Amino acid sequence: MIVNEIFRSIQGESTYAGLPCTFIRLTGCNLRCSWCDTTFAYHTGREMREEQVLGIIKEYPLDLIEITGGEPLFQHHTPALCAKLLNLGACVLLETNGSLDISVIPQQVIRIVDIKCPGSGEADAMDWANIGRLRRQDEVKFVITNRTDFDYAVDVIEKYDLLIKCAVLLAPAYGRIHSHEIAEWILTSALPVRLQLQLHKFIWSPDQRRV
Ligand code: SF4
Repeated sequence: MIVNEIFRSIQGESTYAGLPCTFIRLTGCNLRCSWCDTTFAYHTGREMREEQVLGIIKEYPLDLIEITGGEPLFQHHTPALCAKLLNLGACVLLETNGSLDISVIPQQVIRIVDIKCPGSGEADAMDWANIGRLRRQDEVKFVITNRTDFDYAVDVIEKYDLLIKCAVLLAPAYGRIHSHEIAEWILTSALPVRLQLQLHKFIWSPDQRRV
């Protein structure tokens, strides 16, 4: 597999935000979101065997591990890697852009599934069959750039009854919208969704890329 980086940091997103976590960032993505903050992972990476990845992972506490990207499902080794990480006894999160089939991932993995809003430029890429593949432990995330995105998220949440399926996160696109605007809209809508700020961007300075 091609690995962009492996590092230890504080989980900045999802309902696991704030916990120490080991990140495996895989190279490559099939989308090009307008607000993407991991463009460095599109092409840059090092070819590694699964055993090499596991060797590095075992140097850290085996508590929480996130596989991210890029788009981790863009590499066909990812389901096997997930299974190996579960065998180590870790809680495994997988962050995915929603456009590829999430059912290939082992059952115990917690999948954080993006639903791309119009402002991303990639809303049409969503594999809507993934909604039917969600489990209670999974989480769904909408990144919001403006009111149109927020209204789109509300429509999708209601159309697919997402609130009874799993946790629903609404996150401001960093630098594109103030979080208080989304907070106001959430309060007005009365939807029990979670406002997600990217905690790591408050913890680390831009030159400390532990995100
Ligand atoms: S899916 Fe993720 S990595 Fe890919 S372009 Fe969008 S934000 Fe960037």
